[in-house]
Amino acid sequence: MAAQKDFTVVIVGGGMCGLACATALLRAGVEAHVFESAPKFDEVGAGVGLGPNAVKALQGLGVLDDVLSRADPPKLSMRPYTFITGKGNHEHIFDYALSANEIGLSIYRPVFLDALVPKIDAKYTHFDKRAIQVARTPSGRHVVTFHDNTSVEADLVIGADGIKSITREFVAGPHPHNHLAYVNTDTYRGMHVVTYPIRGNELLNIGAAVSSSFTWSPPRKDTWVERSVPAKEMFDAYGDWGHDIKTILSHIKDPSRWCMHAVDPPLEHYVKDKVVLVGDAAHAMVPHLGAGVGQGFEDSYVLYRLLTHPETNSTNLSGVLRIYDTIRPPRASMVARESARMGRLYHGFGPGEGGNTIKQTQEQVAGIWEPVWYHDLEKEVSQHLNRFFAHGGKL
Ligand SMILES: Cc1cc2nc3c(=O)[nH]c(=O)nc-3n(C[C@H](O)[C@H](O)[C@H](O)COP(=O)(O)OP(=O)(O)OC[C@H]3O[C@@H](n4cnc5c(N)ncnc54)[C@H](O)[C@@H]3O)c2cc1C
Repeated sequence: MAAQKDFTVVIVGGGMCGLACATALLRAGVEAHVFESAPKFDEVGAGVGLGPNAVKALQGLGVLDDVLSRADPPKLSMRPYTFITGKGNHEHIFDYALSANEIGLSIYRPVFLDALVPKIDAKYTHFDKRAIQVARTPSGRHVVTFHDNTSVEADLVIGADGIKSITREFVAGPHPHNHLAYVNTDTYRGMHVVTYPIRGNELLNIGAAVSSSFTWSPPRKDTWVERSVPAKEMFDAYGDWGHDIKTILSHIKDPSRWCMHAVDPPLEHYVKDKVVLVGDAAHAMVPHLGAGVGQGFEDSYVLYRLLTHPETNSTNLSGVLRIYDTIRPPRASMVARESARMGRLYHGFGPGEGGNTIKQTQEQVAGIWEPVWYHDLEKEVSQHLNRFFAHGGKL
């Protein structure tokens, strides 16, 4: 499609959020190039669960049908969540109530990429391009420099470069730990224990997290993902847990251990000049509500709506981006906060002294997903856009 806009976009990072942005923007005629540090698009990890808000964002981006066509089964559905205690005889805590028409999706990460990559013309994708710096040019554009001493200039840079983002430094300023914290919690993948089926019923996604305190410390200096850890290490961590947990763990072949990190404290701004953060670059959060990439898809959707509005052009781009910076940080920070609250609950650290009773846990969990899943993002972005352009492109 011929370029519909008088500005160009560079997307740093081709994970799920970068690719969702690229697919939607290119379809709408915005010239967007993806620069990925790896030699090809690839996803580590198994499945992700997407709630109704994430599904709606993908729909708004126009990519839901592409993703669904590769999903197994290829339809939206939501499985009820059941919470049980990990130790003893697995006492029932809570069934999270779902309405009959709830829309959600569990998808294997590589399948998500397989669905979107063929939709992007290869001339817009660039591999082995690890960004090392973003800077502003005297003319108000931005230049991204890569480790191989090449660089690219664009009117707008979207930082979709994940938790260890380098674009974050441009937006949020230098910080001794790149605005990251270690959550003193490690997940064995591949302990609470979360399981859900992906790829039909062929694969069971298992995330087993062990937490020493669920408090925030400086990031780990050693490796964050340890592959092929001895199974004994994992079993020792769950030595006193119940029968069902041990049975599930016994099916993890070749476990890997992930040290859990998050952006902390939350960023107040996701935009500086014409550099915008999306996904984990903006708000990597603990996974206990299964909401991280859903927030990234919301980012992508809001950005897509703003950039493809018929009246958006290079002269009002800064103002349009201020709308993004008004809408996104408060909401994603709320979801990150609630995810951490759920994490503390899962691991038995709060809110009561010495752990929770089952009743306290029920009270805390009740309704915890409602504000995440049910927010009228479309209404919010439309209201802002209408106000902005009714005032001649001023906030
Ligand atoms: C254990 C666990 C379970 C989770 N479960 C869920 C869930 O059920 N539901 C949910 O919504 N979320 C979940 N999440 C969160 C979700 O995985 C992330 O939010 C999501 O993967 C972030 O996507 P992203 O595209 O922002 O970043 P990433 O997936 O990290 O992609 C970043 C991309 O940028 C590239 N890159 C990095 N640095 C550079 C650079 N300097 N230059 C160029 N390219 C670069 C990387 O190679 C990568 O391709 C979970 C997370 C964890 C850890």
